[in-house]
Amino acid sequence: MTFLEYAPAPESKAVLNLKDSYGLFIDGEFVDGSGSSFTTISPADESRIAEIASANDEDIDRAVAAARRAYDRTWSRMSGRDRGKYLFRIARLVQERARELAVAESLDNGKPIKESRDVDVPLVASWFFYYAGWADKLDYAGLGANPRALGVAGQVIPWNFPLLMLAWKLAPALAAGNTVVLKPAETTPLTALIFAEILQQADLPAGVVNIVTGAGSTGAALVRHPDVDKVAFTGSTGVGRDIARAVAGTNKKLTLELGGKAANIVFDDAPVDQAIEGIVNGIFFNQGHVCCAGSRLLVQESIHDEVIDRLKSRLSTLRLGDPLDKNTDIGAINSAAQLARIRELSDIGEAEGAERWTAECAIPEKGFWFAPTIFTGVEASHRIARDEVFGPVLSVLTFRTPAEAIAKANNTPYGLSAGIWSDKGSRILAVADRLRAGVVWANTFNRFDPSSPFGGYKESGYGREGGRQGLTAYLKGAAA
Ligand code: NAD
Repeated sequence: MTFLEYAPAPESKAVLNLKDSYGLFIDGEFVDGSGSSFTTISPADESRIAEIASANDEDIDRAVAAARRAYDRTWSRMSGRDRGKYLFRIARLVQERARELAVAESLDNGKPIKESRDVDVPLVASWFFYYAGWADKLDYAGLGANPRALGVAGQVIPWNFPLLMLAWKLAPALAAGNTVVLKPAETTPLTALIFAEILQQADLPAGVVNIVTGAGSTGAALVRHPDVDKVAFTGSTGVGRDIARAVAGTNKKLTLELGGKAANIVFDDAPVDQAIEGIVNGIFFNQGHVCCAGSRLLVQESIHDEVIDRLKSRLSTLRLGDPLDKNTDIGAINSAAQLARIRELSDIGEAEGAERWTAECAIPEKGFWFAPTIFTGVEASHRIARDEVFGPVLSVLTFRTPAEAIAKANNTPYGLSAGIWSDKGSRILAVADRLRAGVVWANTFNRFDPSSPFGGYKESGYGREGGRQGLTAYLKGAAA
């Protein structure tokens, strides 16, 4: 097969107005951090982007104190209607600065610009718009007789959707009347710091949102701070466990959004062309750095060979390379550490006897890259069928009957998401009902909407983000 050549179509970095170094954002201002600063780099070519401050215990104290003051003096006294105005303003500023945010996100994270431009940033704006609308309606939403904010929220987020995870955390917390100290991931702090500039532009009262950068120890200090009323975390199951232990026995409320190993189930009556696109989107979107990724393909045995052949030919058309090129489908792996983990688990997959296939593509010399990879002949006991790879690696298993598909889909310590591909609505509903997964997509995958609650079962965590349910995590005595 021959393919059209694409001319380079790089998005310009001229829209960026980056500083050489960034401080911590505390009490409405950028201030120096007391820890040793670190460099954030572009994972596509390992070039330096900026120097980033690191917060130690003392800085966390300052940030939490600022959030407490803002809660007591300003935010908790403000009407929901006025809080909503700030959130609307933030949403509009995100839209105004969308291009800049998308370029910064792709630069710092490595994700293709067409994803940050068309998915991440528009969703960020929609999350703020959505929760802005809730701020003055808390009393009328069945959230209890007198819904009240919890106080100060400490939020820790990962690197896979840096700005979107910030929006998932901040928007409901602020709409419900809480103030926040948020810690972005150490490999992707850039857009959170640009977002801090947006908060200044929006004239958000000082201290309502504080952003503290740093490594895991900064996050650990934040979640352990005695004056934090609520902890929200998205990231790995291991760190989630550590946080659950730290919070146990305190009065802090906790929500955890952890890993996943989702089954994407394709029945033999599925619209195959659509399913192929859904499988690709399910696991190769965002280089597979997606907690709800469809990383286990369960395909009905009778169509296995056809699906795999078509999948391989589709994957051979994906373009891997410069995240800022508008034609790029697969960007860079976020960090050297994550690349090492993907390589290790893939090597284990091969050693355990699964058959490895990798799309042929030129790998850039610098930076962190991993070509789209499929494992066939995977057994339920294989590590690649059980562990979250968090990379562009798909494990393929087969099934014969719906009951077998359900049993295999549920055979995982996780329970975040799943997908079903079938022409029959009744089959989709019957299977979805028996899947132990927080989100089940039907004939689509990786769709997100602010009005739709998202969260997991088992080792995928607890609590829901998004929708009306997402507010309950930030209100006293509110039941979902
Ligand atoms: P991680 O859980 O270590 O990091 C997530 C965030 O938690 C970061 O901001 C980090 O600085 C912070 N953190 C680390 N240790 C902490 C601690 N003890 N207390 C408080 N905060 C702490 O995730 P990672 O190391 O970046 O990735 C490792 C694995 O986690 C990945 O391979 C993937 O499987 C999984 N992961 C899942 C998600 C998700 O959305 N569910 C996101 C990122 C990573």
